[in-house]
Amino acid sequence: MSLFTPSRRWQPPFYPFKKRNFSEKIEEALERTFKGLLWGCRMCGNCLLQETAFICPMACPKGLRNGPCGGSTPEHCCVDETRPCIWYEIFRRADRMGRLEKLLEVFPPLDWDKTGTSALRDVYTKIADHGFIKTANAVVRSSPSQRNEKWDRFFKEIRQPEWWHGDAQPHFAPAHTPVSQFEQALISGKFVLTCEITPPNMCDFSSLDSKFQELVGWVDGVNITDGASAVPRISPFACALRALDMGVEPVLQMAARDRTRLSFQADLLGASASGIHNILLITGDHPNKGNPPFSKMDIWDFDSIQSIWMARKLRDEGTCLDGRVVKNQPRFLIGAAASPFASLPKYQTIRTEKKMNAGVQYFQTNLIFDLPRFEEYLEALDQRSVLGKVPILAGVAPIKSLRMAQFLRTLPGIVIPDHVIERVSRAKDPAEEGHQICLEMVEKLKSLPGVQGIHFMAITDNTALKRLITESNLHS
Ligand code: SF4
Repeated sequence: MSLFTPSRRWQPPFYPFKKRNFSEKIEEALERTFKGLLWGCRMCGNCLLQETAFICPMACPKGLRNGPCGGSTPEHCCVDETRPCIWYEIFRRADRMGRLEKLLEVFPPLDWDKTGTSALRDVYTKIADHGFIKTANAVVRSSPSQRNEKWDRFFKEIRQPEWWHGDAQPHFAPAHTPVSQFEQALISGKFVLTCEITPPNMCDFSSLDSKFQELVGWVDGVNITDGASAVPRISPFACALRALDMGVEPVLQMAARDRTRLSFQADLLGASASGIHNILLITGDHPNKGNPPFSKMDIWDFDSIQSIWMARKLRDEGTCLDGRVVKNQPRFLIGAAASPFASLPKYQTIRTEKKMNAGVQYFQTNLIFDLPRFEEYLEALDQRSVLGKVPILAGVAPIKSLRMAQFLRTLPGIVIPDHVIERVSRAKDPAEEGHQICLEMVEKLKSLPGVQGIHFMAITDNTALKRLITESNLHS
């Protein structure tokens, strides 16, 4: 990718919400023209070019501001395959420039009041605050390393507003009594089991009730998916409440895709007040993975890492994003998705570490069929000295047919090696073969460092799930 990237952008061009005076309009027009020509600037007004190796992140269809999503590949974006993943390109260039570690910082969501306005104005204002002479001296009279350090500090003050204060430091949960039995199990070091339930597309709980009942005593938590594949179903919130009633511990998934920061914080408070304390925060599948007519595709208010940061602040500091103090702070076990097969392990582990730093307490991975690549990811975490700091629950699923295997292969972030496809295609009973492949995978995963549990996915039949658990000797 060349230094200048004026090509098409996914995010819309942003315009100011407020009436601007003449000089501001001129400033904005100049910035739009200059930065637009060079970097395809959309005038988000919250510029990160300095940190993102001079590649504008607003070219990401999901509007992510903290690294590649779980579907990113070195070849293309998972939403629009005609273009590269912009975050992969950012990481690659930052790597070449020796600035990869800078991407560990948790960047804030857009301040929408600034969209369409000049980001350079923030720079002039900051220079004026520091004093022009002092700033010029700092640039001219310092050694290169001091200059870089001062420069970084200067821009950090601009990109990290008071209401966010993101950094690259770990923010682990303070000592507390476990918020749920699931957390208790994780803390005790138990090898935990979770499974996933996709809410049905119906308006009663009859099918769910029996599923929940059958799971009592078999798993430590049941994930309720939130608009998986960008398709609406019964609200996961309602299903989580039902799970509590049925004696099953719910893990409430919350996708950033369908929320603004306002509704997200409201949902967090509502969940904790209702006794739902296990949450799993994800960005969510892009709306174009769902069915037509498609919903708005180009505006995302925040991403998964920002949601982790907001949830942790709400829980540990008792403050909302706007600084209001919450009475009776909410209690959460914060989980997130890990994507071992996205982009490159070297880059994806930075995103994993960033989630840990932001406040994640456990990970559930995407489906694992390619063990060597998963081990590569664990090794990359180990090299960053973060393996074992947060429990990882490895995602597995039994393949039921060749068609299912081929479909899973098309999903972003899932890698199924050819030898697995061949085994299923040659088998007389593909479902039984898929079951055996899954058992073998669980057996190998059980002994890997950092893996403290299994997350069973894509299983609609509880009998199949119980058979897997029993035959892997995981039923306690
Ligand atoms: S692959 Fe994901 S992170 Fe990369 S540009 Fe596409 S949506 Fe954004």
